[in-house]
Amino acid sequence: MDLDHLMSTYSQLPVAFERGEGAWLWDTQGKKYLDAISGVAVNGLGHNHPAVVAAICQQAARVIHTSNIYHIPRQKELAERLTQVTGMERAFFCNSGAEANEAAIKLARLHGHQQGIANPAIVVADNSFHGRTLATLTATGNRKVQAGFEPLVQGFLRVSYNDIEALRTIAKNSTNVVAVLLEPVQGEGGINIPSADYLPKVRELCDEFGWLMMLDEVQTGMGRTGKWLGYQHSSIFPDVVTLAKALGNGFPIGACLGRGAAANVFQPGNHASTFGGNPLACSAALAVINTLESEKLPQRAAQLGDYLLSRFRQALEGNAMVKAIRGKGLMLGIELVQPCGELVRKALEQGLLINVTAERIVRLLPPLVMTDADADLLVERLTAIIADFAASHAKVA
Ligand code: PLP
Repeated sequence: MDLDHLMSTYSQLPVAFERGEGAWLWDTQGKKYLDAISGVAVNGLGHNHPAVVAAICQQAARVIHTSNIYHIPRQKELAERLTQVTGMERAFFCNSGAEANEAAIKLARLHGHQQGIANPAIVVADNSFHGRTLATLTATGNRKVQAGFEPLVQGFLRVSYNDIEALRTIAKNSTNVVAVLLEPVQGEGGINIPSADYLPKVRELCDEFGWLMMLDEVQTGMGRTGKWLGYQHSSIFPDVVTLAKALGNGFPIGACLGRGAAANVFQPGNHASTFGGNPLACSAALAVINTLESEKLPQRAAQLGDYLLSRFRQALEGNAMVKAIRGKGLMLGIELVQPCGELVRKALEQGLLINVTAERIVRLLPPLVMTDADADLLVERLTAIIADFAASHAKVA
């Protein structure tokens, strides 16, 4: 494959896919792969879901793009559907997760300025991931993502994740904080699941100090964790939520949703996107929401996630290579005791698509439509791959 004309932003695996259906992909040689990563939490409805394909084809045949200069009925419809399932009130549409977070960051700053805070700061967490634009890579809690892109953007304060006392200390010592931006479960950071009372306590603190509670649900949203949104595992509402990835099941679309005061911060001229919320993207996302609802896929994610977690725990019990196995819905992490990036290629050879994040964590984000039989196959294949890895490293040691 000739990559000479592509910038080297990605170190790609030696495979290209030409067809997909449900949880399966076929490469250009006809080999079949079980997809347990869903294009990194994007293809929640699996590949080529007929409802999404039909929505895209029908809308493309009518009108693809008009511009936000004009009313876009599909956008209003999508905003209404999203507010129904999330409990938020208003939406701004863009094209990616980073852009959704940029919108949230701008919204928080503007909200601060409107309250007379000239130098507003946003609190973010260690090991977080929020995107690759300058503001979102600054918000990201990973030096590797930031290195070489200094000067970083001002106006961020960092705390350790799942540490309410650290947040309280910031509250005591700073007068310019306007918002907190957190993932309900950290995905890139290693499937880090906070304690059940963390988000409710963050909510309390935000209420006490007048901060906006902003949740990055780019990876956790759209049913992934077993609820429509990650925060719905508790009874709180954030002020701002960002979405992307699975919202269009592969068709690029992002959203920044607001509630209460946050829903009314932006006024004409404050923020915009040429493509954001065009008729085609909105039609894809509407089909995704309708399908998630009609096929009860958030519930399926919860049930299949529990099943996979217990199957992996049984299958890998006693394996000294495995440090921890954790998950929330269909966001699963198997933490090994040593770096294991090589497992991605080994799995590929075995016809299985997985990911390794934070060096030692095998990350699984299977499509919500995965069948029970495919889930069993996933456990069987991955357990064998980890067992081989453990055996070969035991020999070296
Ligand atoms: N936020 C989270 C939690 C993510 O996981 C990601 C991507 O992995 C992003 C933001 C960035 O999304 P995008 O790549 O669409 O800009």
